[in-house]
Amino acid sequence: MKEILLLKDGEIVLKGLNRRSFEDVLKKNLKYALSDLGSFEIKSAQSTIYVRPLDDDIDLDDACERVSRVFGIVAFSRAVVCEEKTLESILATAPVYLADSLNGVKTFKVEAKRSDKRFPYKSPEICREVGGVLLQSFPHLSVDVHNPDMVVNVEVRDFGAYIHGKPLKGAGGIPVGTGGNAAILISGGIDSPVAAYMMAKRGVKLTAIHFASPPYTSKRAEEKVVRLLQKVCRYSGRMKMYTVPFTKIQEKIKNECPEELFTIIMRRLMMKISSRIATDNDCSALITGESLGQVASQTINALGCTDAAADMLVFRPLIGMDKQEIIDISYKIDTYETSIEPYEDCCTVFTPKHPRTKPVLKYVEYAEEEAGFDELIQEALDNLKITKITADND
Ligand code: ATP
Ligand code: MG
Repeated sequence: MKEILLLKDGEIVLKGLNRRSFEDVLKKNLKYALSDLGSFEIKSAQSTIYVRPLDDDIDLDDACERVSRVFGIVAFSRAVVCEEKTLESILATAPVYLADSLNGVKTFKVEAKRSDKRFPYKSPEICREVGGVLLQSFPHLSVDVHNPDMVVNVEVRDFGAYIHGKPLKGAGGIPVGTGGNAAILISGGIDSPVAAYMMAKRGVKLTAIHFASPPYTSKRAEEKVVRLLQKVCRYSGRMKMYTVPFTKIQEKIKNECPEELFTIIMRRLMMKISSRIATDNDCSALITGESLGQVASQTINALGCTDAAADMLVFRPLIGMDKQEIIDISYKIDTYETSIEPYEDCCTVFTPKHPRTKPVLKYVEYAEEEAGFDELIQEALDNLKITKITADND
């Protein structure tokens, strides 16, 4: 039997005249997500995207998993395609295709949708006929229209007749690429991969920036960041990662700035450098994993000082979230186990004993100017390393 995936558009349906272009991006993203599984025909009609495998050996379980991570789809169904668009064909197909699932339940009901109005039977008639055939084939079943164990869906559409069980949950959000470009400042921690996922969910195409301070931070710490991004790429699609050599800058901060301002100055320099990389990559915003009050550098005053160093909008999608809420998402996107591997981040090198929780911008700026970082910033920008990251689908 031939199967197909029927995908339901999410918020795209609200986009009015722009809907076509959103749908085109979504189809392109689906094609990319499925590309290494075989060839598929992907087309849309009536708020539904049809994903039809063209090779016989395609594993549809894998395809479902990939589809479940593509933003822009609220729900999808794995359905059988009836050989003909006739009631007879529907009645012959339903008991065979649904046998496994129906053997595991006691009650069911049939729901029919007839979007092809030329089909000679109306929805209630289709329900009655299919219900009758299923009762006959599976005598242990009874119909429960209020609280059934299983809903059998029959859809008669322009391109054919389809039968499926419960729809699966989609990733929600809007298609990556429809919300502009932004650069995610990624550490090896729990928060920033979650922040990246959340902005990709709102359609943002990502570029990653990671600050490394060898020998204070190790090669393995950077590899961990790559592995985290490979998980994020399962949702966001591929991205470029820039690794910024940060050692000299951090040493200069340590040697020439007041200790209680180490962290805030480091964060500001991260923002300055990131703004430059972002601009060069056509990004119009930065993203961080900061959450209000989580640590000394994330108080309102500290964030204000950090923000002032950025040349562009800064998104902090975790700002109002508790650590546990962030952790819950990191489990969901499977980054948690990697994030808690114990490698040092440049943020934990030279941390002051008593960081200023209420830094005053003009004093911070003064300390920076006294030390003078322009040359080292330029040197760091001249020595960026670029890594191409694609999804880890294992
Ligand atoms: P995370 O769990 O994401 O590391 P955190 O709670 O440890 O966050 P900080 O270490 O203060 O908080 O970092 C705050 C934010 O700054 C991070 O979420 C990230 O966006 C950015 N950041 C921190 N370290 C780096 C780094 N080495 N490279 C790039 N960005 C970083
Ligand atoms: Mg961190």
